[in-house]
Amino acid sequence: MSQTPLPHLQLELDKLKACIHCGICLPACPTYQATGSEAESPRGRLYLMKKLLEGQLEPEAVKPHLDQCLACHGCETVCPSAVQYGNILLSTREDLAQRDHSLSRRLKRFVFSRVLPNHRLLVWGGRFLRLYQRSGLQMLVRGLGLLKIAPALAHQESLLPEIPARRALTPGMGFGNSAGETVALLTGCVMDIFYNPVHWDTIEALAANGYWVVIPEQSCCGALAHHAGDTDITRERAKDLITKTLSIHPQWIVVNSAGCGSTMKDYGKLLAGDSSIAPQAAEFSEKLIDVMALLAKKPLAPFKNYGLHEKITYHAACHLYHVQKVKQEPMDLLAQVPGVELVPLTQMEACCGSAGIFNLEHPELSGEILQEKMAHLTTACQANGASTVVTGNPGCMLQLQKGIETQHLPMQVRHPISVLAEAYRSPQQSSTSPKGKR
Ligand code: SF4
Ligand code: SF4
Repeated sequence: MSQTPLPHLQLELDKLKACIHCGICLPACPTYQATGSEAESPRGRLYLMKKLLEGQLEPEAVKPHLDQCLACHGCETVCPSAVQYGNILLSTREDLAQRDHSLSRRLKRFVFSRVLPNHRLLVWGGRFLRLYQRSGLQMLVRGLGLLKIAPALAHQESLLPEIPARRALTPGMGFGNSAGETVALLTGCVMDIFYNPVHWDTIEALAANGYWVVIPEQSCCGALAHHAGDTDITRERAKDLITKTLSIHPQWIVVNSAGCGSTMKDYGKLLAGDSSIAPQAAEFSEKLIDVMALLAKKPLAPFKNYGLHEKITYHAACHLYHVQKVKQEPMDLLAQVPGVELVPLTQMEACCGSAGIFNLEHPELSGEILQEKMAHLTTACQANGASTVVTGNPGCMLQLQKGIETQHLPMQVRHPISVLAEAYRSPQQSSTSPKGKR
């Protein structure tokens, strides 16, 4: 059996050895829960990666099981041995990606390196999708079942949110108190097309709390490439973003997308070996913070709107809860909003099955995992009266919206910062404000 070069996995050897095979992680793993297969569990995948490193298994035998991992890091939170599963997984994916020359991988690399960083192209794509939805064409296509001939496309189309009217945020714009601490707001790629009003809500909440919010020149952060093992693309994206963002000398670098935030928190580590930018990468990651975590650092400014009257439940995005360890802050902030009643969501930290582009690549398994999440959400809605679910990640917002529509639940999906922003508007403003939902 030939030995596959695995330079990145080799560096994780000590982390691999930390697993004591206790199996405590198994109940926390959504793919194990859905399949009942040891090979789809954290313990099983760690075993497979160890055998791969030892040359006892070929990549072809291991890769499908790693591909079916959500990279949700749920196993890390419960592991008594503090196994850094996520690092091991992403290092192995990077090694395996480098020997994968398939058409599908080349296509994904093209999207990660050429499409997502091209914001102008994304804006035009967003305009086209909005026209498709608002002209009645979407209704016609769905009504006639035209997409049934291409099930993969039908699935992708079914995940589309209602594309909002986009108010552009251009580099150099500043908002709020110019004497306050400077916050660089990262607006991302797809987030700015699908959920652009959430950025305006972020600005509104930060400005109300005395921050000076500045929009740096920027493009895609490379999170989806990182997730897929195309970390070389992520490093290139990171260098560009770090240089442009630090040029405005922010005290904080704020993000409202959990998945993007967790990758950018890793920039320091990803670029530690590149002496041309390592100190800046470390500074960037140090200053990077989720918007809810930043607002939780100080007492909130007084609210203006006392008329919300909303029962809200909170779904914790994996990359916020398990990776960035932002756990209690969003709920603590929401609990302070007048008129908001927080309703518990059982297993709120369990993955919803979105996981980057996992729901596009593995629709069946993703759907099974979503079913489990929907059972808990149905209880929060029907038994406890929640009319809104909030979550701090665009992928989760899309996935939950899909589940809610499929099950005809009377709920809306919002970003938690949108609830805060609404509470900072006067009631007259509030009735006309965008809500970032379908
Ligand atoms: S990853 Fe952690 S919890 Fe899972 S089997 Fe290994 S030591 Fe136990
Ligand atoms: S990252 Fe998530 S899906 Fe992957 S092994 Fe861990 S718990 Fe399971």
